[in-house]
Amino acid sequence: MRIPLIAGNWKMYKTSAEAAAFAEEFKKLYHDTDVRAAICAPYTQLETLVKAFAGTGIGVGAQNVYFEKEGAFTGEISVDMLKEIGVDYCIVGHSERRQYFNETDQSVNRKLKALLETEICPILCVGEVLEEREAGRETEIVSGQVRAALDGISAEKAERIVIAYEPVWAIGTGKTATPEQAGEMCACIRQTLETLYDDVVSDKIIIQYGGSVKPENAADIMNMEEIDGALVGGASLDPSKFIEIINF
Ligand code: PEP
Repeated sequence: MRIPLIAGNWKMYKTSAEAAAFAEEFKKLYHDTDVRAAICAPYTQLETLVKAFAGTGIGVGAQNVYFEKEGAFTGEISVDMLKEIGVDYCIVGHSERRQYFNETDQSVNRKLKALLETEICPILCVGEVLEEREAGRETEIVSGQVRAALDGISAEKAERIVIAYEPVWAIGTGKTATPEQAGEMCACIRQTLETLYDDVVSDKIIIQYGGSVKPENAADIMNMEEIDGALVGGASLDPSKFIEIINF
């Protein structure tokens, strides 16, 4: 059985003091549920959150990583550095990184492979831009991103990856995909996984939806059969909104 994951993506928001205040507030609101919860924070807030959430079951994730083990790569952070802090998750291939920081399908693939050498669970983001959807190319684009990202990754390792379907036109725009659109695309991703591996593997992989998820639309989206949770940007910055989404 797949246990849904609801993960917050703080993007480049919150100082350490603000992260600590969030954690204190959030811990008061959080009770064990049927879903897993996590916050993906800026690098400098990770240690604060790992300490604050120790023993609570709330996971902590990074938003990016570099695929090389170590070396002269100024400004980058390695998988081992994340592992040392005790990070549980790491977002890979978020559309903002693809758009502003030259993230490619090839670098996404290398980052996944590096993370899968450890226990850190990658959250692989895929999704089409508006023009691609308007041209009716969303399934081709998204399944192409999934195939490229998973190239050369064994079934055993692929099972540990969480995939977030995030239509780029719905991220931070207030425009949510309808539950049917989101469900169809998550089903398309599962179909791609079945083709790449088999139905046993594809059945095990968590596929989230992301894009303007908020307390008002969380239940409709997450009640769709193919959707196993959400990646939540804006609404994860507020403990009371995020907890409402988790308790959908
Ligand atoms: C995101 O950052 O992954 C995201 C889905 O953002 P938002 O919820 O703000 O659209």
